[in-house]
Amino acid sequence: MLKRYLLFLATPFFVGSTYAQKPCGTDEIMRQVRAEHPEVVALEKEMERQIKEGLRKIDFGTAAKTTGVDQSNNPDFWYDIPIVVHIIHDYNTYNTSTFGGDFIPDNFIYEAVKEWNVTLAKQNADTSDVILPFKKWIGNPHIRLHLATVDPNGNPTHGITRRRSYLTYTGGNPAKYDDWAPTSYVNIWFVAKMSSGNSSAAAFALYPSAGASIPYYDGIISLAEYMNKGSKTIPHELGHVMNLKHVWGDTNQPDVACGDDDVDDTPPTKGHSPSGCSASALFDTTCATNYFKIYTSPGGGVELVNYPDTVNAQNIMDYTYCDRMFTKGQVKRMALALNSDIANRKNLWDPANLAATGALAAWPDFAPTPDFNVTTTTGTAYMSKNANFAFPNKPVKFTNFTYGDTVTAMKWEFTNGTNVITATDMNTVTQAFDQPGWVKLKMTATGNNTGDGVKEWEKAVFVADLTGTNPDGYFQEFGPTGDRDKWPYFNYFGNEFKWEMSDKGMWDNNCIMYKGYDERITGFTYPVTGMPKGDYDDLFTVPMDLSAYTGASNYYLNYYYSGASRSSISSSIADTLSIDFSVTNGTSWVNIKKVAKAELCNKGAVSTPWVPTSAADWEPMSVNIPPAARTAYTVFRFRYLPGVEPTYGQSTGNNFYLDRIHFSPNLTQVNAINTKANSIMVVPNPTHGNAFVVINDAAGNDVQVVVTDITGKTVYNTNAKMNGSQDRIAIPASAISVAGMYLVQVSSGNQVSTEKLVVY
Ligand SMILES: [Zn+2]
Repeated sequence: MLKRYLLFLATPFFVGSTYAQKPCGTDEIMRQVRAEHPEVVALEKEMERQIKEGLRKIDFGTAAKTTGVDQSNNPDFWYDIPIVVHIIHDYNTYNTSTFGGDFIPDNFIYEAVKEWNVTLAKQNADTSDVILPFKKWIGNPHIRLHLATVDPNGNPTHGITRRRSYLTYTGGNPAKYDDWAPTSYVNIWFVAKMSSGNSSAAAFALYPSAGASIPYYDGIISLAEYMNKGSKTIPHELGHVMNLKHVWGDTNQPDVACGDDDVDDTPPTKGHSPSGCSASALFDTTCATNYFKIYTSPGGGVELVNYPDTVNAQNIMDYTYCDRMFTKGQVKRMALALNSDIANRKNLWDPANLAATGALAAWPDFAPTPDFNVTTTTGTAYMSKNANFAFPNKPVKFTNFTYGDTVTAMKWEFTNGTNVITATDMNTVTQAFDQPGWVKLKMTATGNNTGDGVKEWEKAVFVADLTGTNPDGYFQEFGPTGDRDKWPYFNYFGNEFKWEMSDKGMWDNNCIMYKGYDERITGFTYPVTGMPKGDYDDLFTVPMDLSAYTGASNYYLNYYYSGASRSSISSSIADTLSIDFSVTNGTSWVNIKKVAKAELCNKGAVSTPWVPTSAADWEPMSVNIPPAARTAYTVFRFRYLPGVEPTYGQSTGNNFYLDRIHFSPNLTQVNAINTKANSIMVVPNPTHGNAFVVINDAAGNDVQVVVTDITGKTVYNTNAKMNGSQDRIAIPASAISVAGMYLVQVSSGNQVSTEKLVVY
């Protein structure tokens, strides 16, 4: 059995731990949300109206109980609330001592929830530090958070989701993957880093007003290191979810001007910048001197309440390191927010919802879910850690990321060609493979009482060829008869931006494309999901033997491409194709060209998904291969980095097509494309493989193509009726398989032309 939380268990706090950055970005996010979604302002006003009205009804002196659903007037009521924790990660192992990394283990999450509940039940031992004037004002929120045991589809869960995403490095609203209905669950996301757009805050949350307007972002997002760390970051953010402001209000930064949070028993304050908890902060009277409130009862009686004349620097909604308490007034307001229909917060604790989410149900026990990541044995740095493309006999490191249950034993089975290699290591396996092709991995994780979790990956790692391929006459056309299966490509983050095979090739029905057009976006608007910032996807060549060209004056990587941008705004044309080589078995990669802008988008701006339809849509490209790259074993890598729309962060890219990759002392342009009117051309020329007769402006004509070899023998003869402004007739490679010179005679209408075709 896995441990679930035990309420009221005292946990030691790391008092005085330092914030690495601004504790909370909620005010800034709320300003952005109000600007983008003006309706939020009216919702905030309505929320405040409901709270004011609710406060009037509450008799502070008695524990009047109400019947029915509304519990806002019942100070003894406990709010049980289902939660879901979303771990957005890039397989960075979480260190439970230093809190670094992003793949937070289950048990650490359970411990953290337990600690949040300690604070939300006023059981935190450090309330003993609260200074005397505030002792009587410490409130008990009476909130119990429960990891859900039933997910939105009705399936059993531990209330934790895990998703690999580069957005763990640029946390913010777009990183809020896999949200569960926020009227049924409080969503809490954890990432490794926040984006600069969120002021690199440690965490932020949305008020109910914003949650009602943009429900797909409702909830809390926090740095993984602030899940616990002895800080009260999550209880603070939960305060915002229940509509609490910072104690100085929400119109400026702390430590600027006296402000108020509309809570009577938190005296006006400038608030405190995140720093140590000094006596001057604890006994700060600025803004709070002679602070009292006069209340008039419905019967006409008047009561003066003399609140403390020091500010409440120990409030969880301030930024000091000695945050200890919510006040009674804050608790009332949280209860009223939880009884409001704004963002339907009142549904969270509704008995029907608690049943549907299994919040109070017995904790289910699952078999473990095996998972792994493969990296180089040395570097783990971002952008270079993936080692799904492995070199023969060079070890790569597999790290165990199994989750979902305590694991008592592991079994790894690697199938590499005819070899089966097994290991039983619990944490990492470092393994080399000597047979080219895909390595299959089967992981068996034994749980402590529910049996084994078993998972298989047919394509865990690709092992490159043992020797380099001769480049002479080698073309990668991505056709089924070639060796395209030796050019592996990887969608590391499993998302919609990726390399894939296409049937829109330049000469034939095969090429590879990068799918950069996000068809889910109908305009640059919210919600932003799957923004591509930080994504990258690789295509690798077979190892090439270029040693014969070490001394050549020029040597090129040649290809044809067809691409477009989605937007005509220059700053939005932001895709990049990075071409790199390695002559060190992947230890290092050297860039030879970064392709961008016009060299990537020859068709300019196209608002619909780009699809090339004729050879004229393609352009040739030649990239100089430096002498250092001309070894007997050189691998090239095409790394595509999709572009980002600057305001919303959505994909600005369109589809990019790549075809007919070859290595040659000649420029690709030798095989220029026929774009002249009324012309006939044979391309590519010289060729190795098939060739095409490209005919312009011959619609309706019957065209005959006769190919003869150097002896005058006809090797190929075909007829076709032209039906477009540009047509092409294939000369199959099988007809011109012998190297040498051929003559291609083309008869179209009254025109007859003869072209020389060189086959090598
Ligand atoms: Zn805050």
